[in-house]
Amino acid sequence: MRCVLLMVGTELLNGATLDTNSIFMANELNKVGIKIDFKLTVGDSLEKILEAIKFAKEKSDLVILSGGLGATDDDLTKEAISKFLNKKMLVDEEELIEIKQKFKKLNIEFLKKNYKEVEKPEGAVSIKNDVGMAPAFFIDGIAAFPGVPKELYNMFPKFLKYYTNNYCESIDPIYIKDIIVSGIPESILEEKIKEFFIDPNIEYEFLVKDYGIIVRMQTLESYKNTVEKIKEKIYNSIGKYIITEDDEKIEEKVFKFLKNKNYTISVAESCTGGMLASTIVGVSGISQFFTEGLITYSNESKAKRLNIDKNIIKRYGAVSKEVAEAMVYGLETNVGISTTGVAGPNGGTEEKPVGLVYVGVRVKDKITSFRFNFTGDRERIRRKTVLHSLFELYKMLEEDE
Ligand code: AMP
Ligand code: MG
Repeated sequence: MRCVLLMVGTELLNGATLDTNSIFMANELNKVGIKIDFKLTVGDSLEKILEAIKFAKEKSDLVILSGGLGATDDDLTKEAISKFLNKKMLVDEEELIEIKQKFKKLNIEFLKKNYKEVEKPEGAVSIKNDVGMAPAFFIDGIAAFPGVPKELYNMFPKFLKYYTNNYCESIDPIYIKDIIVSGIPESILEEKIKEFFIDPNIEYEFLVKDYGIIVRMQTLESYKNTVEKIKEKIYNSIGKYIITEDDEKIEEKVFKFLKNKNYTISVAESCTGGMLASTIVGVSGISQFFTEGLITYSNESKAKRLNIDKNIIKRYGAVSKEVAEAMVYGLETNVGISTTGVAGPNGGTEEKPVGLVYVGVRVKDKITSFRFNFTGDRERIRRKTVLHSLFELYKMLEEDE
């Protein structure tokens, strides 16, 4: 089953609106094993929409459009579809009554142009719109949805159910396995693992993120076991760089450890300025284990709140291994993290450049510090610090038996 997504709307081409609809649809389609070959975006031009439909129809079994189903003059999707299929546009009487009632209920005058919202090419199957006005429809391998996301979210699953029941012999959902690695460059990673991908049914790609690289393996549910075997080989080869799998967040993994061991955690943050605490607090159920987060930004605060000898700060500087370790030592829980670094864009020196970060991690009596040289802007450096500090804590918790 091949599919093309066709997004309609000038706002999607001029930077005014981010196309989130295709992401939603891709996810839903993947769940039922429908693969997308092309994703096109066109502005509100009858000619361009028609051209795109022609291309999409040639390339696929199913064309799904989103946008341009409304009542205004720039809504041209229906016209393009009926022109392409050479079919008349008809108004369904029942739908007309229904939409008029909806307008009445909202106290909006029903104008002549609103008839357009219930028009569709002759023979099209309607998909009921429970949250908006214009229904979506399906005809001859072409489905059309409004651009308004909440309306799409309401109707798309109904359409997929109808479509898979009537047009798909069996459902073999797309299966995705993500392994998240950190600390290994993309090119070396590929060299180490590419030999495991011999089966042409398993595709893989690398998605580079702030916190590392996602190794994404994609196949159909029926090849899941092959992916599991490849996963095992990857663990044997580069296991020490693997941080987590799928969308389980590192803070959730840390939380599970804390819960199992009944450890309390607190943090002392300088360059992350609360971001680390905020990330930890994002995990539901953490309240029993998270004691406090101190934002010790100035040297005075570090000395006063964490009982650090001022001479240590003076001698080594606030951004140093010694201070990171002293900061985490000053915390009073079983487990702790400290962060201190140069987030930039100003304040870097040759000796201590922007992106230099020290993280202190403590698990009971064991204190370790880590030095990072992150790249990116202030926000990214802070985000990377949060994630990597949690990874390091996670690894230490794993070793703590
Ligand atoms: P339309 O059905 O073309 O009248 O679209 C109505 C509204 O939905 C637009 O003004 C956008 O704000 C939004 N919209 C349209 N297409 C998309 C899309 N692909 N992703 C997210 N929002 C969209
Ligand atoms: Mg539009």
